Amino acid sequence: MEQNSNQVDEAKQTPQTPESAGIEPAQQMGQMRQALKKNLSRKILAMLGSCVNCGLCAESCHYYCSTGDSAVIPANKFDVLARVLQTYFHPVKSRLPFSANNHLDEEALAGLYTAAFENCTLCAKCALTCPMGINTGEILSLARAMLCSIGRLPSGLMKPVETAIEIGNYVGLSTEDFVENIEWLAEELADEIGDPDFSVPIDKQNAEVLYIPHPLETRDLPFLLMYCIKILHAAGEDYTFSSYDFDTANYAYYQGNKDNMMRIARRMLDAREKLQAKTIVLSPCGHGYRVMRWEAEKYLGKRFDFPPVRTFIELIHRYLREGRIRVEKNKFEGPITYHDPCNIARRGGVIEAPRDVLHALTSDFVEMQPNRARNFCCGGGGGLASTADFGKIRATVGKTKAEQIRQTGAKIVVTNCFNCLTQIRDLIQIYELEGVEVKSIVELVSESLIR
Ligand code: SF4
Ligand code: SF4
Repeated sequence: MEQNSNQVDEAKQTPQTPESAGIEPAQQMGQMRQALKKNLSRKILAMLGSCVNCGLCAESCHYYCSTGDSAVIPANKFDVLARVLQTYFHPVKSRLPFSANNHLDEEALAGLYTAAFENCTLCAKCALTCPMGINTGEILSLARAMLCSIGRLPSGLMKPVETAIEIGNYVGLSTEDFVENIEWLAEELADEIGDPDFSVPIDKQNAEVLYIPHPLETRDLPFLLMYCIKILHAAGEDYTFSSYDFDTANYAYYQGNKDNMMRIARRMLDAREKLQAKTIVLSPCGHGYRVMRWEAEKYLGKRFDFPPVRTFIELIHRYLREGRIRVEKNKFEGPITYHDPCNIARRGGVIEAPRDVLHALTSDFVEMQPNRARNFCCGGGGGLASTADFGKIRATVGKTKAEQIRQTGAKIVVTNCFNCLTQIRDLIQIYELEGVEVKSIVELVSESLIR
């Protein structure tokens, strides 16, 4: 497919300084080859060889829809990796002593980095459109793994993963601070609930639910965590927090590095094991849910020996169905629309539960077009929202989402993922969506509770 000037490239800022700069070319190739060997599946190989150049994937990708740039058509993005594999990793040609292609030059590395980390959010929407079932995001995860092996990563996917592995959560919050913050929240809620004995359980044994919050809720946005706790309390849930693991996020998934991903995931599994909680429920976080619901078991090669990990909206849905909580309808003025986070809906399978909950909350619900599994990515996924340097790219490729929101005429955009919340908040400002605000579905439920 023909390529032209890259409008997304114009939007991007200075690329990260590669740690790979200090690695000898031969060593660099060795590390990338190892990562390739570890991550190249038959499925990816088949996808790489199946493209019929029909171009249908173009309109499914928010990068192309927002920019009209043919370089960001999904097929052209994975072709960058296909060419690198063919040129530098061919099992015979690349090893010939006289070959000029026995190591990647800076231009090839930079092209791969742009395709893998800047120009794809791994949202998988293209896979639904492609007649051959090609998932460009899945292919580019392999490119991410190869780049990760030489330390060539965006800053937002480097430090947070190191911190999560070293300290136990990606913001580096200490256990003492976590416990102190939860106790403070409990005191605040005791006043609001009118129960001086109210407390939030931490490290309780044998609870039905181990609730894992997003560490930013605990550290910076406690009101979001208060909404969750109020719902758990109202439903009479037998729940607990863990002082050992309090991080839903898993940015190693976006590195493409499965070992790092499992190091982080194991901490959560260990936390459940220590407390003998019946199951794990996660605060709204798209990729965190994807990892714990679908990726971790796949990587381990066996099912967890406890019920499936849930995202909080699934639990809320059950509470409403079972009459454990009641909500006031139309407490929030509509129209209200819902943004399906890619990793919760298309890649997570949680599609109707949030809609049922929203129908209980409002009689003025309006769908985005397209919606559900075919919804467009907000542009903040794949680690873009966590990397400050990608701000301009996020703004550019979020245009499609901003237009989708504008067309609904909604006053409130509800979503169910921390990164989507951040991205849509930014898009509302950038694209001047006047009178529109974005809210977490948990906030709407919590604020509408009938006591
Ligand atoms: S996975 Fe998403 S962002 Fe990546 S190419 Fe496909 S549609 Fe575009
Ligand atoms: S839709 Fe599939 S087959 Fe057609 S160009 Fe895109 S990746 Fe290739």
